[in-house]
Amino acid sequence: MDTKQLDEQYIAHTYARFPIEIVSGHGSLLYDEQGREYIDLGTGIAVNIFGVADASWIKAVNAQMHKVQHTSNLYYAAPCARLAEKLCQRTGMKKVFFGNSGAEANECAIKVARKYAAEKKGGEYYHIITLHNSFHGRTITTLAATGQDSFHQHFLPLTPGFLYADANDLQSVKKLVDEYKVAAILLECVQGEGGVLPLDYAFVQGLAELAAEQDILLLVDEVQTGNGRTGSLYAYMQYNIQPDIVSTAKGLGGGLPLGVCMLGDKVETVLEPGDHGSTFGGNPLSCAGAIDILDRIDESLLEGVKERSAYIFRELSGCKGINEVTGMGLMIGVTTARPLADVVAECREQGVLVLTAHGKMRLLPALNIPMDLLKKAVDIIKNVCAQEI
Ligand SMILES: *Cc1c(COP(=O)(O)O)cnc(C)c1O
Repeated sequence: MDTKQLDEQYIAHTYARFPIEIVSGHGSLLYDEQGREYIDLGTGIAVNIFGVADASWIKAVNAQMHKVQHTSNLYYAAPCARLAEKLCQRTGMKKVFFGNSGAEANECAIKVARKYAAEKKGGEYYHIITLHNSFHGRTITTLAATGQDSFHQHFLPLTPGFLYADANDLQSVKKLVDEYKVAAILLECVQGEGGVLPLDYAFVQGLAELAAEQDILLLVDEVQTGNGRTGSLYAYMQYNIQPDIVSTAKGLGGGLPLGVCMLGDKVETVLEPGDHGSTFGGNPLSCAGAIDILDRIDESLLEGVKERSAYIFRELSGCKGINEVTGMGLMIGVTTARPLADVVAECREQGVLVLTAHGKMRLLPALNIPMDLLKKAVDIIKNVCAQEI
């Protein structure tokens, strides 16, 4: 049997896969099983931020692989400690917990918030406010945090204690804060799976003020928006807020599984021995690779992200067959006049791989995608979108 047949027979049918097998790549170019070349505007869902087979990251991971691949958290390990230092220095956060995925990073954030509120205000302060249309993961608790009913069906009852407010409507948050005993507010600065929608600056500022006033923790999910994706190291930095907890994953590991929950001043001592853990969390290979990735997310890379972003917005906005372009940095949503599935398939046939989110085309290219490839890809997208229905 070939890969497709094996996959269909033996892998649980949780994914509607695109009909190609990716076998190799280099930078922003990918190759399928027939040797066809594609320009990659999806980066494995915002993961491969320096593209595929990135030499610097390979070298860092390889060097660690030849020392020790895994230690467990029963021992000290340099890559893990050094990465934690770098993350804290660049964010002002005080401590980190390492897991393996975005959902786990959010689980940790939720546990810390509940423990903080229980100790400070009492066990009845367990509610966590999230936003309609958000996405925070697929575990039973992070699904509860996800403010989209479509993800909840079939899996009830979910973890109790989650409340949903409307994005960009501060009153809807205040109403919940007045009515319930609230531990934390959890948000994505740009709702990714929800359709690449940036939150309003004033709304996020208002949330931060409200949270500070009421000693409610502000949790920012930077799983998708983080690590340079939006044009700053973390998206919250563009909103001029200092969250109490920041979770991230996807791009930080450069392709190896890695999730981080970063803890600020208020909560740095909340977790104590035995409170939380992960066998693989802080894996030396993932962390060694992440140090290489993080070191390269510097001002010049971020300038490049902004230039590429401006180019995409300029080229696609107002084009025939394109109704709207939303997003921030290299996290971009495009509403197409033609049926989305057709647009995505035709782009693929013409050698451009794009993603979707909530009825939109979603672009998450490598942060260092060469301009000539980006131009070529954008031209193809424009042409496909402009075709008559
Ligand atoms: C992808 C994503 C998650 C879940 O991350 P996993 O690594 O798939 O568990 C959580 N939050 C946001 C905002 C995401 O985009």
